[in-house]
Amino acid sequence: MHLKINTLKKQIFLFCLNVITTISFSQNGNWYKGDLHSHSRYSDGSSSVSSIIANAESKGFTFYVLTDHDKTYTSNPGNPIHWKDTAYHSNKMILLYGTEWTTNNGHACIWNSKPFIYDSIFQANKLGQPDKAAEIGKGQGGIFSVNHPLSGSLRWEYNYNFEFQSLEILNGPFSYLPSNNKNVITTVWEPLLLSGKRITAVGGSDMHYLNSWLTSFLPNLGSPTTYVFSNQNNAEGIIDGIKKGHVCISNSPSEPHLDFFADIHQNNQFNFMMGDEIADTNSLIIFKVNLIGKQNNLTFQVIKNGILLNNHTFSISAADSSIEFSDIPGQKSYYRIELLSNGNPVSWTNPIYFGYETRTIAYVNSNSELSKIEIYPNPTNDDVYIRNKTNESINIKLYNVTGEVLVQVSTYDETIKIDLETYSRGIYFIKINDGKSYKVIKQ
Ligand SMILES: [Zn+2]
Repeated sequence: MHLKINTLKKQIFLFCLNVITTISFSQNGNWYKGDLHSHSRYSDGSSSVSSIIANAESKGFTFYVLTDHDKTYTSNPGNPIHWKDTAYHSNKMILLYGTEWTTNNGHACIWNSKPFIYDSIFQANKLGQPDKAAEIGKGQGGIFSVNHPLSGSLRWEYNYNFEFQSLEILNGPFSYLPSNNKNVITTVWEPLLLSGKRITAVGGSDMHYLNSWLTSFLPNLGSPTTYVFSNQNNAEGIIDGIKKGHVCISNSPSEPHLDFFADIHQNNQFNFMMGDEIADTNSLIIFKVNLIGKQNNLTFQVIKNGILLNNHTFSISAADSSIEFSDIPGQKSYYRIELLSNGNPVSWTNPIYFGYETRTIAYVNSNSELSKIEIYPNPTNDDVYIRNKTNESINIKLYNVTGEVLVQVSTYDETIKIDLETYSRGIYFIKINDGKSYKVIKQ
């Protein structure tokens, strides 16, 4: 086993920087671009809904959501009033429904594919309960996204110990303080990722004035721009893409953005993209980064578990080109990419995660139907469970790395416990119905 690992390490060393000029997407879908955070005159902005929609369309957005502060709710019982403006429609963009949950201790955007019931979310506002607001928002199919967490008096003063899906790592006005955005990434987002949460990073311009003397000081709509990958050309698809972390952020609509893929079998099949999670942490992974758009003096850097990966900074000059690199995660890990222009970050991917979930979903071909078998937790400290939802008996074999069968069982039970307590730490394989083997790690 040791020898094998050494060979793999050598492979990394010998792996050549590979610049490919064709982009082949292994996943069906498209990138949608838009802005997730902005205000009209319905709250503290100065622009009409119709002028904002026209401006968003002129920037080439394919989705947009207006997120006026929920203070409009108090004087107008019912849903936030900006949803009801008849100018809030577009033939060119997918529109979402959103509002900014605004309290003295922090702000958050809540987005949904359709209007949602706001009354109980507003009660959670009055009571200062972000966990409740997030839960109710999520229960209606929406997303709760913490905004500008380190921004002066508007900073997030609640804790992060609740279930929320997204975090605004890049906020328009606060991009004038580049250290603020960097601090959000390094002191808020990355610690959350390292703690085991999978939180989608997004950007928001927080635009308040399309045309005003302030516009020359404050970033306008689309600064930053958020890209969402989806295989559905509708609002549900955008929401789903954000939930999955299929999201990349760029400083502005004109700056390049990135694709980030992983090939887990070294067979040139890049079946995983940013936001995805891969259970295996011990294989050599080939990563691919596609540059979409062009700028001079661009470099990629690879960040693994919050740390810049040595020797993984690549220059790239040709438009729409790709770079590949490889690594073995080795433990629960995430990888993300930052794109720099003349040394300054201009685009950020969400991570690809390894070993984050405790559940491995294995598919077993039984009577020409795909039936589900779940193996969890993995890695494990002692027991491993197999859940059999096939309604048929299954044959399970546990092997060690030398191929010795340690346990064999045929059962109709829906949940089967395999006790690894007496075995040493390391890698084991579970074979179902003499088909494919699944790696289980005892740590
Ligand atoms: Zn705000």
